[in-house]
Amino acid sequence: MSDLESKIGINFNAVKCPVCGEKQPAIRKPKGLYEILWGGYTCKNCGCKMDKFGKARGK
Ligand SMILES: [Zn+2]
Repeated sequence: MSDLESKIGINFNAVKCPVCGEKQPAIRKPKGLYEILWGGYTCKNCGCKMDKFGKARGK
């Protein structure tokens, strides 16, 4: 990701699950408050939670 993308907090690239590599859909229903506030994904393949950059989130 470029400096600009990390600064403005938008990831234009497709996000892949850090665990299983499943591509996350661009449009999804947020699961929980974190995703409503910050974006991010819950992998529907393995259930891993990641942020909008595709980095695994801690529990
Ligand atoms: Zn996954």
